[in-house]
Amino acid sequence: DRTGPAVPQTTIFTVMSALAQQYGAVNLGQGFPDESGPARVIEAAVAAMREGRNQYPPLAGIPELREAVAAHQRHWYGLDPDVDEGVVVTAGATEAIAAAMLALVRPGDEVVAMEPFYDSYKASVELAGGTIVPWRLEAPDFRPDLVRLGEVVTDRTRVLLLNSPHNPTGTVLDRAELEAVARVAADRDLLVVTDEVYEHLVFDGLAHVPFASLPGMWERTVSIGSAGKTFSVTGWKIGWATGPADLVARLKGVKQYLTFASGTPFQYGIAAALASGPEFYEAYVADYAERRDLLAAGLADLGFAVHRPQGTYFVTTSAAPLGYADGMAFCLELPERCGVVAVPTQVFYADPGPRPEVRFTFCKPRAVLEEGLERLRKGL
Ligand code: PMP
Ligand code: GLN
Repeated sequence: DRTGPAVPQTTIFTVMSALAQQYGAVNLGQGFPDESGPARVIEAAVAAMREGRNQYPPLAGIPELREAVAAHQRHWYGLDPDVDEGVVVTAGATEAIAAAMLALVRPGDEVVAMEPFYDSYKASVELAGGTIVPWRLEAPDFRPDLVRLGEVVTDRTRVLLLNSPHNPTGTVLDRAELEAVARVAADRDLLVVTDEVYEHLVFDGLAHVPFASLPGMWERTVSIGSAGKTFSVTGWKIGWATGPADLVARLKGVKQYLTFASGTPFQYGIAAALASGPEFYEAYVADYAERRDLLAAGLADLGFAVHRPQGTYFVTTSAAPLGYADGMAFCLELPERCGVVAVPTQVFYADPGPRPEVRFTFCKPRAVLEEGLERLRKGL
């Protein structure tokens, strides 16, 4: 018998990036930038390698990176994670999510997650023996329904899994929404895991508010971050989780048997990256805001119904005005027909039946976005 736990054997990102290769398509599917991160970040990792920092780092991550993560949270959010016990460096946010679920979810527990949800959430919850319970952000505006949250939480709910800025919709939870979520978490005594990998991609003068910064929430919250997005080094797979010592200790307990530790020279690179001054982050978000506007306007011109994201580097559209009710069918024919790849958002729902929404990423140079739009214009 060769069966194992029932998680999907391939992710949508693998499928779509393979189609992009096969057809030489402009890949606006999987979210990875074409350009590497800042040269000084790359150089810091190269220097670490040259200096011989090539062996296992400590389980929790090198002290320099844990200090940098803590300093970053102090500077931006007034949070103060303990450098030794409140920070653990992980192999990307993906490992932090998996370790959090394996550490906090018991068989039979429910995890309430904002739906659509990033694909690793469901798999990680199920590997832990739990069940994911969707808390739907309804199209077309994808705001959270806070009354509904009180209804989807049951006596079996153990963890609330938040994601803001939200992939794929770009919704950024505002303070009032977070406060309402915090009331539910406190009333129902939930643990909260919050995925904030797009923390520095928030547009239009809005602010990212970490859930852990709300009054009383620090003690029940694990916050997850990643360097991949902010510093354009998705292949380095450096992420982290922060929180109170007992929860972080539980994650470390699991993590030691997943990877133990990883990426020593990359950890040095990211320690240097997190020391970036505010001008780095300002330029980064301004650049992405321009790319968002370019792609959103171009897709609207082509007839898509476009949902303008408040954050992340994704635009969610509906292909319904173009006559498509099934985003999967649309995305599977798009590479051959137009030479463009996008992601159907139905794969991020508990019930992956047909939906017309399609996600495009704008983490690509302007010329690539323009080329993608031009190909759509010709082929659609
Ligand atoms: N969470 C979300 C919402 C993401 O979009 C991604 C990456 N696309 C991840 C987690 C995974 O991050 P990492 O590459 O650091 O594992
Ligand atoms: N997070 C990226 C996205 O949403 C993909 C990461 C992956 O390939 N697993 O597009």
